[in-house]
Amino acid sequence: MTNLYPQLAIDLKKLEENVSLITEKCHKQGISVMGVTKVFCAQEEAARAFVEGGVDYLADSRVENLIDMAHLSPEKVLLRLPMPSEAQVIVQHVDISLNSELKTIKALDQAAKLLDKTHRIILMVDLGDLREGIWPSDFDATIREILTLDKILLEGIGVNLTCYGGVVPKTDNLSQLTALNQHLKDTFGVTVKMVSGGNSSFLYLLDQGGVPEGINNLRLGEALVLGRETAYGDQIPGTHADVFQLKAEIIELKQKPSVPIGEIGMDAFGNKPTFVDKGIRLKGILAVGRQDVHPDNLIPLDENLTIIGSSSDHMIVDFTDSKTDYHVGDIITFNVEYGALLSLSTSPYIKKVTY
Ligand SMILES: *Cc1c(COP(=O)(O)O)cnc(C)c1O
Repeated sequence: MTNLYPQLAIDLKKLEENVSLITEKCHKQGISVMGVTKVFCAQEEAARAFVEGGVDYLADSRVENLIDMAHLSPEKVLLRLPMPSEAQVIVQHVDISLNSELKTIKALDQAAKLLDKTHRIILMVDLGDLREGIWPSDFDATIREILTLDKILLEGIGVNLTCYGGVVPKTDNLSQLTALNQHLKDTFGVTVKMVSGGNSSFLYLLDQGGVPEGINNLRLGEALVLGRETAYGDQIPGTHADVFQLKAEIIELKQKPSVPIGEIGMDAFGNKPTFVDKGIRLKGILAVGRQDVHPDNLIPLDENLTIIGSSSDHMIVDFTDSKTDYHVGDIITFNVEYGALLSLSTSPYIKKVTY
């Protein structure tokens, strides 16, 4: 018998509902959807719910996760720029990769020659968010080189916004992408299959009718898993925010002072903590810690619980204001934000349980 907690509980029905609602909305506007599985480490049943919900591609930043999903039928897309050293693995296991470096694209071409395959790429253009992508002024020179490579097929062009720089997609920055697409046709006689307009921060444009002509693909993670559009952080009507929940067990529950007794030196992470004296409080310890998740990105379902801190393996919660009578061994449930979901998914100590 393996232990069940701490647990990341996954509601597959709600996940599939999120995916089908958003995917249908995209399809109605002629936009295909890459379902991004990285935030839940491509957990098998959740990835299947993406497929059942109607995504057109499965996309992840790690080739390992794409290999794990090989048995699922949609084509696999590598989101993070490839490492040149993994070119062969990528050509072998990935249908389409996002790229911005000619050196890497040439390595993919060489690997594809060896494996006698064609590898498809999406050329990323940086429109100001300052994460990945070629600078628009390098576009022509890059395209010219790509077109000389026998085993590389230019599947599309794309942009990524609201990741590093927090830049919001708008008609003006996106129309630069569609202008480059037009330029490809006019100058190079090349018609690409895909113009990939971005991630979950793009979705608000669907409702406002502001999708620039020609954008026909999105790569969606957070919107599908948490039902959140990420330009302004709004919940998408009709979606579930509680597909993924953390469940952790109470291992101690006692009345204790709110201020430590003795000289205050440093905490487990080298910071000098400060405390407000609220008198004696009912404080509990949950068996989950920073090795699994940062406590800032968790929302207790019982609104009267307050997370007051956590160390590597312990989370301390103030239970005083709750109307529920808790006991050692009870399970506390939290909704999770993106950062919490990411680290809970990668922690080997967290049991992933689907419902
Ligand atoms: C993670 C990622 C996405 C998905 O972003 P969300 O905000 O979760 O929708 C899209 N594109 C790229 C390149 C990514 O790395």
